[in-house]
Amino acid sequence: MAFLEVADIKTYYGNIQALKGVSLTVEEGECVTLIGSNGAGKSTTLRSISGLTPPRTGSIKLAGEEISLLPPQEIVGLGICQSPEGRKCFQRMTVRENLELGAYLRRDTSGISADLNRIFELFPRLDERQSQKAGTMSGGEQQMLAIGRALMGKPKVLLLDEPSMGISPVLTERIYETIEQINKDGMTILLVEQNANFALDVSNRAYVLETGKVSLSDSSENLRTNPEVQKAYLGT
Ligand code: ATP
Repeated sequence: MAFLEVADIKTYYGNIQALKGVSLTVEEGECVTLIGSNGAGKSTTLRSISGLTPPRTGSIKLAGEEISLLPPQEIVGLGICQSPEGRKCFQRMTVRENLELGAYLRRDTSGISADLNRIFELFPRLDERQSQKAGTMSGGEQQMLAIGRALMGKPKVLLLDEPSMGISPVLTERIYETIEQINKDGMTILLVEQNANFALDVSNRAYVLETGKVSLSDSSENLRTNPEVQKAYLGT
């Protein structure tokens, strides 16, 4: 039994079928990447897992427990936290307030403050800018904040949607170094990326999604050297 087990999910937006039977697994402590081009269904897969757009059929289990019928707040409560694509921080609140909000379901005050310090260690930029309004931070800084906020929920599984979206290669590299560190510290991660270079570097395994279906799955190392993948997703 895998820690997170997605089996044959079909997800719709009204009449539009975005996922046509997606299955994947993530083991405890693994970092798994989902790659695919625009509209392949990567974000929808994450939204299905976090309950924001629940699947119409199929099953999603966390540690053996069916979660696909639960509302999103209960799924967060069970330990699945998503860092959304793009700038989804609370713009008028400060960096620190955004991070504290990430811990709103927790009651372990000392754990919260230890995690806050850990996030400032991982992202020194956030430490320097604790009292800056999130809306005035750069795209990359807001991406760090979104990841930090998801971590403040003390997740069992961290879902990351395109952490490199709209940010410079240098900052992307820094964010990926941090993702690798977070995974080394024991966090289970499911990562979505269109630009697969960095993502395949930090992950153990990966799935390729094409028009709502998994077309390939293998170790990240094998996918890196697969000519089809190189041509379509690695820009080589
Ligand atoms: P991208 O890399 O461009 O974000 P993606 O792989 O994450 O793409 P999804 O956002 O999951 O793709 O979209 C999958 C399909 O579902 C697409 O055809 C998209 O047009 C459709 N879709 C996504 N969100 C909605 C929505 N709110 N209403 C209708 N259709 C949607």
